[in-house]
Amino acid sequence: MSGSATRLQAIAAVTNYKPITPPLNFAETKPGELFGTNVFGLSEMKKRLPKNVVKSLQKTIESGEKLDPSIADAVAAAMRDWAIEKGATHYAHVFYPLTGLTAEKHDCFLTPDGNGGAIAEFTGKALIQGEPDASSFPSGGIRATFEARGYTAWDVTSPAYILENPNGTTLCIPTAFVSFTGEALDKKTPVLRSIQALNRQAQRILKLFGHTDGAMVMSTAGPEQEYFLIDRNFFFARPDLINAGRTLFGCRPPKGQEFEDHYFGAIPERVLAFMLECERELFKLGVPIKTRHNEVAPAQYEIAPSFEFANVATDHQQLIMLTLKRVAEKYGMACLLHEKPFAGINGSGKHLNWSLGSATQGNLLDPGDTPHANAQFLVFCAAVIRAVHKHAKLLRAVVASAGNDHRLGANEAPPAIISIFLGEQLTDVFDQIKKGDLKSSKKKDVLTVGVDVLPPLPKDTGDRNRTSPFAFTGNRFEFRAVGSSQSIAGPLVALNTIVADSLDYIATRLEAETQGDPSKLHAAVQKILKEIITEHDAIIFNGDNYSAEWHKEAERRGLPNLRTTVDALPALLDEEVAAMFERHKVLSRRELHSRYEIYLEQYCKTVMLEANLMLKLGRTQIFPAAIRYQSELATTCANLKAVGYTFDTNTLDKMTALVKELQDSLAELEELMRHEASSKEEEAKHICTKLLPKMVEIRKVADTLESMVADDLWPLPTYQEMLFIK
Ligand code: ADP
Ligand code: MG
Repeated sequence: MSGSATRLQAIAAVTNYKPITPPLNFAETKPGELFGTNVFGLSEMKKRLPKNVVKSLQKTIESGEKLDPSIADAVAAAMRDWAIEKGATHYAHVFYPLTGLTAEKHDCFLTPDGNGGAIAEFTGKALIQGEPDASSFPSGGIRATFEARGYTAWDVTSPAYILENPNGTTLCIPTAFVSFTGEALDKKTPVLRSIQALNRQAQRILKLFGHTDGAMVMSTAGPEQEYFLIDRNFFFARPDLINAGRTLFGCRPPKGQEFEDHYFGAIPERVLAFMLECERELFKLGVPIKTRHNEVAPAQYEIAPSFEFANVATDHQQLIMLTLKRVAEKYGMACLLHEKPFAGINGSGKHLNWSLGSATQGNLLDPGDTPHANAQFLVFCAAVIRAVHKHAKLLRAVVASAGNDHRLGANEAPPAIISIFLGEQLTDVFDQIKKGDLKSSKKKDVLTVGVDVLPPLPKDTGDRNRTSPFAFTGNRFEFRAVGSSQSIAGPLVALNTIVADSLDYIATRLEAETQGDPSKLHAAVQKILKEIITEHDAIIFNGDNYSAEWHKEAERRGLPNLRTTVDALPALLDEEVAAMFERHKVLSRRELHSRYEIYLEQYCKTVMLEANLMLKLGRTQIFPAAIRYQSELATTCANLKAVGYTFDTNTLDKMTALVKELQDSLAELEELMRHEASSKEEEAKHICTKLLPKMVEIRKVADTLESMVADDLWPLPTYQEMLFIK
């Protein structure tokens, strides 16, 4: 075996890997019994709290009613007893700052009792409100650092849970994080507000259709998480992976993903062991993990829970990412959540399945067998179509990040052009509406497999379209442009709010036209559906989103194609967008603007860090390897020449040229990094149009060197090693 010493050690460590944990005892606890054991959920509350307190909590959780603070002491005491029985010594208010990460502030339950001892104390006040020092979280100008006060507020709608650690456990309380002035400094607050906004407007539509029970309409979310797993020893030998989460160098392996032999293939044993433990951990936390499988790229996998209410799904999605990372370490692996850890290999997304529904109405995006006759469904569906068309730029902006820029539009993930895949049946129904002649729905077929022992399979009314950024998949929409490392909060806030806004528009129109007379509803609905589809069907595209023709066609239709984060983020400054968020009380102008600033800053910081790393790795690892090999070649040539051989110097010449090119382009990158920008916008633009292309250039040179330099001199683990040695 060849390779540099570091790489050889890493390879040896992988091949000698022995599972470090004793195998889990599955017989001891069945998954069914395990589910939710570490969650302070309804059944636990019922056991420990008076009926009226449980009822009051349920009203807040299930119908969105105001929380009654007078019950907090009772809940806190019950929660504390439960947590201490489970071995907890501390509690933590968990919150979700705008970095997209999860933050926690831990406090001990013990309080001095004044007699030299201590008692376990946890008051209602401590449950409801916490005060972490907010100054080190980004606020985008909302709060100067000297006004560091920030508050965490208990979110009753997302259950508290116990996080286990080999050395103790912590009671975690999901909270919202707001500034002294009540402005949202986090990702959760706007999610909760957008859920309220969606409910408010959906109720108006339901009322027109005669449904006045008031059951809360909730937005539902089911995120499918893609990720890579590589051995930790390779991870630690790659400073770019450690610091930037993606490889800045590395040439394509001889075997890529062209055989497509990984997708849905058998799962390697160590990976399966890891998945089983992840699922168990998540089960305990009440996260309903449903599917697992290999993904398209080598070493890429997917995990997906069943859908839940959007706020709980958002918290659970953060827990999924944390658990993947934690458990991977235990199995000697590193979990990579970056959108594009390996160039030339498929990246990772987080398909966000989204719908809305209520306890009495069920899923409001379920068309049933005869969608043409389901006017209520058509109204909700048309609201989504209008919303996505009007706010395509906003949807692009909420999935914009330095990492996702490598993925969107790279013919493996959806393009940066937002469009909707509706499928054959619904497209046909809306075509009929447009023509003013709505009569029928295409029927569901039965698939005959041609083998008698197999059951006939009901055929879906539409095929799947993997290239669409926003696809109708039978009873929900799937937003596929979301990045794998992203919190789903931003995309959910945008979806809930733009759909609430469309429902508001439709409800206002229908209310005016019917004037409270239900017999006028049918005609009014027909009229508005026709209008909406005529105005907004440009957003519908059922074809291949990767094709060059589509890009031309999309331009003709006036659909935006915002290729980079720098192009996409200004949508957050749009006057119409700001007015909409304000109208529905989801984000104030200041809050929205702060998000724009933070995300732009994050973009700049991310790419600058990558550039710094590239400079360092280029100069201290790749350049030295290259000149050593160059010198070996030169020595050989000189020696041979000395004894009278004429030696073909092609390779040496090529090496010399590449070494010079590497040196020069690194110096050019350094020069570009010195640029003094006049504003954040200008800095971002410089980074996007000058720095990134230079980095691509450097990478090309380095990757060519990788294919030439003697393998035992090459310092960094190769793609071949990282992706295929398991
Ligand atoms: P795919 O075939 O698209 O890969 P998966 O089974 O991996 O499908 O994931 C589908 C996701 O869609 C699951 O998380 C599922 O719970 C979710 N889903 C199903 N119905 C709804 C709904 N009404 N609202 C939101 N998400 C839903
Ligand atoms: Mg899937």
